[in-house]
Amino acid sequence: MGIVDEDIVRVRESTDIVALISQYVPLRRVGQRWTGLCPFHNEKTPSFSVDATSGLYHCFGCKASGDAITFVREKEQTDFVGAIEFLANRVGITLRYTDANEGESRKRQAKLYGELERAADWYHERLKSGVDAAAARKYLRSRGFTKEEVEHFKVGWAPDDWDQLMRHLRISEADAVASGLGFVNRAGRMQDFFRARILFPILDDRSRVIGFGGRKLPDAEGAKYKNSRDNDVYHKSRALYGLNWAKTQAVERNEMIVCEGYTDVIGFNRADITRAVATCGTALTEDHVKLIKRFANRLVLAYDADEAGQSAAERVYAWERAHDIEVAVVQLPDGLDPDELASSDPDALNEAVENARPFLRFRVDRVLADSNLSSAEGRSKTAERALEVIAEHPEPFVRDQYVMQLADLCRIDVELLRSRLADSSRRTKQNADRKGSPDRRGGSSPGYASDDGDPGPWSVDNGSYGDPGGYDDSGSYEPPGDYGYSGGQSSGGRRRSQRVAPGGGRSSKRVNERSPSLAVELEALRLFLVNRPSIEGYLVPEMFDDALVRSTFELLESNADVVSARDRGTPEEAELLARLAVDPSEAEVNDVLIRLATEVGRSVLADLEARARSSADPLAFVEVITWLKLEVDDLRRSKVEVEKLDQLLVWLRDQRRESDRG
Ligand code: ZN
Repeated sequence: MGIVDEDIVRVRESTDIVALISQYVPLRRVGQRWTGLCPFHNEKTPSFSVDATSGLYHCFGCKASGDAITFVREKEQTDFVGAIEFLANRVGITLRYTDANEGESRKRQAKLYGELERAADWYHERLKSGVDAAAARKYLRSRGFTKEEVEHFKVGWAPDDWDQLMRHLRISEADAVASGLGFVNRAGRMQDFFRARILFPILDDRSRVIGFGGRKLPDAEGAKYKNSRDNDVYHKSRALYGLNWAKTQAVERNEMIVCEGYTDVIGFNRADITRAVATCGTALTEDHVKLIKRFANRLVLAYDADEAGQSAAERVYAWERAHDIEVAVVQLPDGLDPDELASSDPDALNEAVENARPFLRFRVDRVLADSNLSSAEGRSKTAERALEVIAEHPEPFVRDQYVMQLADLCRIDVELLRSRLADSSRRTKQNADRKGSPDRRGGSSPGYASDDGDPGPWSVDNGSYGDPGGYDDSGSYEPPGDYGYSGGQSSGGRRRSQRVAPGGGRSSKRVNERSPSLAVELEALRLFLVNRPSIEGYLVPEMFDDALVRSTFELLESNADVVSARDRGTPEEAELLARLAVDPSEAEVNDVLIRLATEVGRSVLADLEARARSSADPLAFVEVITWLKLEVDDLRRSKVEVEKLDQLLVWLRDQRRESDRG
C-alpha cells in the first residue's frame, strides 16, 4: 500500500467529506444528508447525496459512489496513494511510508522535479547575465517584455552549445532522459535537449516545473517552437502553460482563457488578464478540458479566428455536455494576436474578452459576416450555410432560437427553416455516429483515448460522445426508493453498473421484479447501517432472501464500521453500502420493523403451510399457523405494541435460522 495504515486512518478521520466535495460542487443540507448536482455527470436536478456520518457519497443518476478517497481519485485523476497524499496535504498530516519501493518512486519523482527546477533557475540566470544571451534579451525587449515579466515568468536562455546544462546539473543519464532535460547522443555522450532557444518554463497547477517551451530567435534555423517531449513528469495532452498563475483568477471569475502560445499568455497578463493558459504544441484535448473544469465552468477560446472557427464543433459540444462547461470564443480585432493587442491596446483586449460569444453564436456570425444579404439568392445561400452550423448543436431549444433569428434575418418562413433543419440534423447525426467510432476518436485527439483500462465515471460521458441521442440517458434520475442497485436494465455506456451481482441470476431477477420484500430487506439493511442498535437483535443473515443484501449484511456484521466493511467488500457490496448510506428516506424505525415482520412473517407462514401439507401430522401445525396469520394481520393494520412486535421478530428470527438449517 505504501502509506502506514495508521496514517491512512488519520487522514480518513480528519477528512470532512462535505467540506471536501463542497470545493467542487455546492451542497445543500437536507435532513441528515447533503445533496447537490452530481460532479460526475451533467444534470439539472440534484441526484447526488453525501452522508457526513459514514463519509460516503452516492449518485442516483450515474451511480458514482464511494468515500473521500474514491472521490479524490476520480476528480483529481490520481491513484490511491496520490489521493491519500492529496487529502493529507489538505488537513496538514505528514505521511509515513511503509514500502521502500513506493517511497523510492515518490522520491525519484520529487528528484526529477528538483532537477527541472534547478534547470529553470540556471536557464533564467543565463538569460539575465549571459554574454551569449544578448540577442535573446534584445529580442524579448523588442517584443515588449519588461524585466519584471522576465522575472515573473522565469524566462530563460538555453545557450548555443552541446552540454552546458548537463555539466552544470551533473545528473545521471536516466534522470536526464526522464526529466526531458538531456539525452545520450550518437557519440554516447550526454547532450542538452534545448539549444539556442528562449525558454518558457511550464509549471503544473502545484507550481512545479514540468517542462519547457523553447522559441528560436527570429534569424535562427529550425522550427519556431520546440517543446519538451512527453516523459515521466511531462505529458503535453495534460500540460497547460500558465495554469499555476491562471488558477486564482480563473476561480474568481469562473472562467479560463485558452490561447495559442506562451507569449499570448504573457500578453494577457500585461492587460491584467491573468486567467489565460496555452496548450503546449498540441490541440486542446479532453484532458485539458477536465483540468480547466477543476477551476472554472467557462472556457474561452482566444485563438486566431480561423483556427477557432475550425475547432471541431462536435468535440466542443461533446465537452460542453460531458463536463458541463460552457465554451465561448473571443473575436480579436483585425486578426491580431492577444500578445500584439495587449501591447498596442490593452483595453481593446479586455473588451474583446468581455464580449466573448458562445461557440455556436461565433460560428453563425462568421457565416453571416461572409454573406450577401441584399439579394434573395444571397439570403437563401446564407440560410443554408448557417443551418448547417446550427444543426451541429445538440440542444433542440438552442437550435430553435438561432433558427428564429435566421428566419428574420434571411426573410424565410420559420417553419420552412425548421423542417430543413430537421433534415440537416439527421444528416449531422448520421455523420456523428460514423465519426464517433473509437478509431476516429482516438486518432484525432489523444485526449480522447482513455488513460488506462479503468472505466472511471468519465468514460460514461465519453460513451455518449457524438451521439446526441444518448444524452437524456445520462441525466435520467432514478428515485432513491427504487433501490435499483444492479442497474442492469440501463442502457449502454454505464459499465460501472453492468457488473453482475454476486449470487447471479437469482439476485438480478429479484431486482427486476422489484418485489416488495426486496425493498423491505434493503430498508432493514439500511437501518442496520445507520442505526445498528435499533434492529441488530432481530436480524440474522437467513432473513435476507436476496443474495447481495445478505452478503452485504454479513459484511457489515463482521466489521466494526461501514468504512472498513466497504474496504473488504466486493464492488457491488461497496456500491450498495454507499447508496444506502446516503439514502434520503427517513423511514421510522418502527415502520421498518413492522414491514420486516410482515414480510418475514408471510414467508415463514408459507413455509409452515408447505411443511404442514407434506407432513404426516398436518394438524400439529394448525395452532402455529393460525396464530401467525393473526399476528401478520395485526401488523397490516399497524395495531401492534412495541413489546409484541419485539417478541414476534425474535420468534421469526429463530424460525428463519432453523428453517435454513433444516
Ligand atoms: Zn452522477
